[in-house]
Amino acid sequence: NEILVEVKNLKKHFFKNKGIIKKHYEITKAVDDVSFYIKKGETLGLVGESGCGKSTTGRTVLRLYEPTAGQILYNGVDIAGMNREQLMPYRKKMQMIFQDPYASLNARMTVADIIGEPMDIHNLAHGHERQEKIFELLDTVGLNKDHAARYPHEFSGGQRQRIGIARSLAVDPEFIICDEPISALDVSIQAQVVNMLEDLQEQRGLTYLFIAHDLSMVKHISDRVGVMYLGSLVEVASSKELYRNPVHPYTQALLSSIPIPDPDIAEASRRIVLEGDVPSPVNPPSGCKFRTRCKYATERCKEEDPILRDIGGEHFVACHLLDK
Ligand code: SF4
Ligand code: MG
Repeated sequence: NEILVEVKNLKKHFFKNKGIIKKHYEITKAVDDVSFYIKKGETLGLVGESGCGKSTTGRTVLRLYEPTAGQILYNGVDIAGMNREQLMPYRKKMQMIFQDPYASLNARMTVADIIGEPMDIHNLAHGHERQEKIFELLDTVGLNKDHAARYPHEFSGGQRQRIGIARSLAVDPEFIICDEPISALDVSIQAQVVNMLEDLQEQRGLTYLFIAHDLSMVKHISDRVGVMYLGSLVEVASSKELYRNPVHPYTQALLSSIPIPDPDIAEASRRIVLEGDVPSPVNPPSGCKFRTRCKYATERCKEEDPILRDIGGEHFVACHLLDK
C-alpha cells in the first residue's frame, strides 16, 4: 500500500513560564522526535499509558497543535508549516473522533447542526441537500432522522459517540484520528462502536490512527501498532507480530499486564511486571527514557537514546539490547 500519512521527527514541546521576576520556562516534551507512517486504508493503533503523548501526537498531526519541529506529510505534501488558508483542504481530508462524547458535542446545538457544522465550514451542502446528507449520515451511524432535532443530552454515551462519528464523516474525510473513542463507553457498547468504525473503513476506504491506552483495545482493529513511552515511539510492528513477538521491554510489560488470558500473547512476556510510575515529561530520564523502569538497563542506556530501527519486516524497535 501507498503511504497516506508520514510523520518525520515530530516534536511538540509545551513551554510554561514559571519565572516570577525573570523568565524561566518549564519545557514539557510531550512528543519528542516521533516518526511513523500510515498506509492508505489501514489502521495504525497508537498505545501507551496516559500522559505518554499519544493524544498530543494525534492533535499535532491534525495541526490542532502547532508542531515544534518535524514534518507531517499528507500524500507526500508537508503540512507542518502551512498557514490557515493552505490547511483548509487538508482539514477536510483529516478528521478526529474524540474520547469523550459528552464533552465534545456542543450541548446547545441540535444533532442536525452538530453534524451540519463541518459541512458549513467547508461550504459543502446547503438547504435541502444539506438536510438530506444529515439524514443519510444519521442512518449510516445507526440513528435516524427523528434524532436530528434533538440535543446531545437526550442520548446515551454510545449514541453520542455515533453522533461524533457522523460529524467526522460529514466532510467525506480520507483519514480519521480516533482518540480513545471507546474508552469512556460501557464495555457492552465498545464492540459495537469498534465494529461500526471497521465497517465504515471498509465502505469508505478510510485510514485510521486509533489511539488507546491499552493493547487489548487496539488488537482487533489495528493492522499495525505503535507503542509510545514518554513522548517517544519505542516499538512499531504489525499487530500479529507485536503480540506474538514483542521485543521492547516496555511492550512486553504492557502485554503482561493484560488481565484476560490471550493465546496470541507470547508466554515469555506474561511474567514481566511493570513497576513504578511514568516519570514526568518535564524532566525525562537521560538516554533511554524507559531506563528507570527497565530491568535490562545498562550504563549505555543512561547516556544514549536508542534509535527506532527496522529489525526486519517493518518491525521497528528502539532499544540497545538489539546490539547484543
Ligand atoms: Fe531497557 Fe536500555 Fe532497552 Fe531502554 S535501551 S529499553 S533501558 S535495555
Ligand atoms: Mg489521551
